[in-house]
Amino acid sequence: MTAPLVDAWGREIKSLRVSVTDRCNFRCRYCMPAEGLEWVPRDEVLSFEEITRLVRVLAAMGVEEVRLTGGEPLVRRDLPALVEMLSATPGVTDLSLTTNGVLLDRLAGPLVEAGLRRANVSLDSLSHVRFAEITRRDALDRVLGGLEEAERYPELRPIKVNCVAVKGFTEEEVPALAELARRRPYVVRFIEFMPLDADEVWREDEVLTGGEIRAIIEQRWPLEEIPAKASSTARRFRFADGAGEIGFVNPVSEPFCSACDRIRLTADGQLRTCLFSRREWDLKTPLREGASDDELERLLRWAVQHKELKHRINEPGFVRASRSMSQIGG
Ligand code: SAM
Repeated sequence: MTAPLVDAWGREIKSLRVSVTDRCNFRCRYCMPAEGLEWVPRDEVLSFEEITRLVRVLAAMGVEEVRLTGGEPLVRRDLPALVEMLSATPGVTDLSLTTNGVLLDRLAGPLVEAGLRRANVSLDSLSHVRFAEITRRDALDRVLGGLEEAERYPELRPIKVNCVAVKGFTEEEVPALAELARRRPYVVRFIEFMPLDADEVWREDEVLTGGEIRAIIEQRWPLEEIPAKASSTARRFRFADGAGEIGFVNPVSEPFCSACDRIRLTADGQLRTCLFSRREWDLKTPLREGASDDELERLLRWAVQHKELKHRINEPGFVRASRSMSQIGG
């Protein structure tokens, strides 16, 4: 183990999001245009060996949590092979996945067998019509089937269901999603809509805040706050009658940048130190040009030294990130 990876503001980096592909089989309105985006050419996408090498170097500097994401990570062929490689990497103690769940019905078993221990499934509506409206795909039953398949593996816990909260859309979904958290062993979390949509339609008044959703839920079911880890992105609540757990990820109304311990690796091998970065650090070129582990470590430390203090969504003159959510890896 080498010295910890610390940024210029004293935050220690413990968590890495790895995008395994920028492609997706959904076209969620708050994320990607209907026609998709220009995909990264396949030979520009990091191989499993390249990803594993970078994770090994980062884990030696204290990165413990690795979350696989995309695009849709389950469209990357042989993903369980990568999970197996990463779960065998010394220092990686928490390996998780964020998925739209549509392929989980067939992949949950192989992923668990390969060492996956946590999954987040994105789900914005429990109504077939409204699910299709927001994702532009008629796939609600497959996502629910994927969740049920995940539930069959007790190794895979907690199962989190993530819902992006958009004003004028999500209010109607809140009671059914809260009920889902009460009925099934899923932690349902509402995530505020962020200005990371490729269509650039985000406006501040389209953000349905965690506070507003909490008020809707509490009209029917009182909630009690559960203490969360300092680096946690979510505020956690249990239903006062003991029936389940709800979370709120409030990056817009209650930014948590001061405790941010995350960095991100894009599918094409660029390191991003903030979701809202305007600048990326190329790791793919040195990796492919034969850089040593020491050289990669120096580059990673240099990049992390430049980690942004905070996103500036709520400040005048906010400038959007240089890429949209699916291209970064949410
Ligand atoms: N395809 C996978 C999925 O659906 O979970 C992983 C990638 S997706 C980009 C990761 C998460 O980002 C999803 O929960 C998605 O809903 C969320 N997301 C996408 N665009 C967003 C936005 N503009 N604001 C907030 N969350 C967003």
